[in-house]
Amino acid sequence: MLKENTLPVQVDAFRFAENTARLEGALFIKDMQRLAPSLYTSDGETQVQMEFGVDKQGIHFLRGQFSACVTLQCQRCLESLSFEVAGNFLSGIVRTEEEADQLPKGYDPLIAKEGMLTLQDIFEDELIVSLPIVPMHSMEDCKVTLPLKIETDEKVEASKENPFKVIEFLKVRS
Ligand SMILES: [Zn+2]
Repeated sequence: MLKENTLPVQVDAFRFAENTARLEGALFIKDMQRLAPSLYTSDGETQVQMEFGVDKQGIHFLRGQFSACVTLQCQRCLESLSFEVAGNFLSGIVRTEEEADQLPKGYDPLIAKEGMLTLQDIFEDELIVSLPIVPMHSMEDCKVTLPLKIETDEKVEASKENPFKVIEFLKVRS
């Protein structure tokens, strides 16, 4: 068993699986260019853990876990929003699309071109799909509050209106 604390950029996926390698470490959010458009600031890092192996059916797999705190933009008040994101996945390591189609249920395909996997790409993809589509603060924390008072005032105004106006309006329409 192989255990390393400094993450390599790429790994020889099939060799790592046969050696039941375990890896853990951190990846910088600022290095993830595809994730960047979804973020407000790119500080922080994501903690990752990986367990490679071969199952009884001979499937080479990668079991991964990650957690990070990223800074998103609240779509209601447009200010920054800290978001805790975490997840785990189980991927079957394959060389081609055809092999990917043959993977048993429960495995997401991970295509290792020439047998190699780029660790940052794997976790960047996982982070991208784990973020909310429309990030927003909870109501208590958001700078924008619902205009409840104004709604009440409008109702009062409406009841004060001249009832003849309503009749005129109906006449015009009919
Ligand atoms: Zn907000």
